[in-house]
Amino acid sequence: MDNINDNGILYIVATPIGNLEDITLRAIKVLKEVDVIVAEDTRHTLKLLNHFEISKPLISYHRHNEDVKSDVLIEKLQSGQNLALVSDAGTPGICDPGEEIIKRCIDYGINIVPIPGACAMINALICSGISTREFSFLGFLPLNKKLRKCKLEEIGNSNKTIIIYEAPHKIVTTLKDLKQVLDSDRKVVLAREITKIYEEFIRGNIDDLIDMSESLKGEIVLIIEGSDKHIKDNELNNLTLEEHYKFYEQQGFIKKDIIKKIAKDRNLNKNEVYKKFL
Ligand code: SAM
Repeated sequence: MDNINDNGILYIVATPIGNLEDITLRAIKVLKEVDVIVAEDTRHTLKLLNHFEISKPLISYHRHNEDVKSDVLIEKLQSGQNLALVSDAGTPGICDPGEEIIKRCIDYGINIVPIPGACAMINALICSGISTREFSFLGFLPLNKKLRKCKLEEIGNSNKTIIIYEAPHKIVTTLKDLKQVLDSDRKVVLAREITKIYEEFIRGNIDDLIDMSESLKGEIVLIIEGSDKHIKDNELNNLTLEEHYKFYEQQGFIKKDIIKKIAKDRNLNKNEVYKKFL
């Protein structure tokens, strides 16, 4: 790509989240061409680079040295070197280091170029079967009690699909916390080990997931269906039947489920609603 000044370019390069075949041709090309690769854990990235026979100088850049290392990286970029930022897995900046250096580069007028690829939350979402129209990605839930309570309440009231990252040793606690705020009719999908040998999508409600989460291992993303409580209480019954239908259709529900939901919201017989939409 053409540069707008003499500075180098910072490439933000997504790497696989499990299956190495998910690296893109462009990612390999950029990693081979840059002057330096900036990695979250250099030992981890070295394995990836060895696999693709890429040999480049590596600089470590992680949560605990972001501030100091940003200065070093900016200097290199200002001297015209091109850098590639990678994280241990997936897309840098998504629950991984990246935000800080990107902000600094913008301040210094340095070009930032995305090299798209795997991201756990997007792949969990698209296979969840839960609406992809509007969603909130919350990353990891806070551990601080007060902040966690606020986030849980937000999830309980959200009418958007919610996406959460969680570590396997904390999943049982997190699911039990979620049970306090989720109605049993809200769908929850646990996506585990995406792109790896034991990849699985466990679909159910919060109770179903608690029942089977004790022995879960591996990396996990939770997808939670949005609540229709708020809209239902305030607005749904003021809509025409057609608008009511469209409301659920836009959330990705199929006809059979929409009819069930409308009948329940309006306290009508399911067959009556069905006939109206024949
Ligand atoms: N930057 C990464 C991305 O683009 O998805 C996320 C990094 S974050 C530190 C790590 C978390 O992402 C894990 O705890 C898990 O919640 C999720 N994750 C990463 N890889 C995964 C996979 N293969 N399957 C399921 N979840 C995954």
